[in-house]
Amino acid sequence: MAFEQPLPQSLSPSRLADFQACPRRYQHASIERIPQPATYATAKGRFVHYVFERLHQLPADERTIDRTRDFVASAADEILTDDVRQEIALDDAMMTRLLDETDTIIARYFEMEDPKEVQHEGVELRIGVDVKGAPLYGILDRLDREEDGSLTIVDYKTGGLPNRNYDSHTFANAELYAALCEAHLGERPTKIRLMYVAHGQSIERPVSEVVTNARAQAAAGAWSRITRYYDEGDFPATPSTNSCRFCAFKDRCRANGVAVPGR
Ligand code: SF4
Repeated sequence: MAFEQPLPQSLSPSRLADFQACPRRYQHASIERIPQPATYATAKGRFVHYVFERLHQLPADERTIDRTRDFVASAADEILTDDVRQEIALDDAMMTRLLDETDTIIARYFEMEDPKEVQHEGVELRIGVDVKGAPLYGILDRLDREEDGSLTIVDYKTGGLPNRNYDSHTFANAELYAALCEAHLGERPTKIRLMYVAHGQSIERPVSEVVTNARAQAAAGAWSRITRYYDEGDFPATPSTNSCRFCAFKDRCRANGVAVPGR
């Protein structure tokens, strides 16, 4: 079966993660572009990212907590569109919860760092570059220039703290961002900082040439398989408890006879 839809022109770290979890999920999300309805967690993530993006677009001396809170109203207008409100069944109680949680996150963020002292090369930085034959594309939350002149990739996380036994998985996306930066800017970031803003904690990891090479190689290998599966007209399903648990396409898979674990 040939696909009616064109092959995507680029591969983002999150789409790569889809593919690595299950090629069929990538097919549904990136080739067939089957919409995945927003959830409370994804809407909250976009809401909080919007606020921090606006904060760091301000001149450094204007980055106060009051100015940050001022962006919450425009986040509601921009992020909570009619479609999103419908998909997450937003009612007054949920809106109150979202605003309360956002306010807590803002307060915790200001305990984690003083944004007036942050020097960055960009926020919501869009980078597209060919790496080892793979057309990679990513949007970095923030790329900081540290006092010693080095670059740090900063990624905001609005979910729970990760299990540190799986750091390789936790840092995978950001390490691919580092490979993107290296290829695009000619300068490799030396550190990744994941800011778990709901918990007021950051975790960091150094970046080495070995790591960026390995991530780039894995992305190039994945892209080669993506183009092959696309030409063959089928991306195999690789069901597993972990992959299927939060997958939006469970019902479709079951209807097609895939043995999806779980409920
Ligand atoms: S439900 Fe499981 S097998 Fe089906 S696409 Fe999602 S991850 Fe793959």
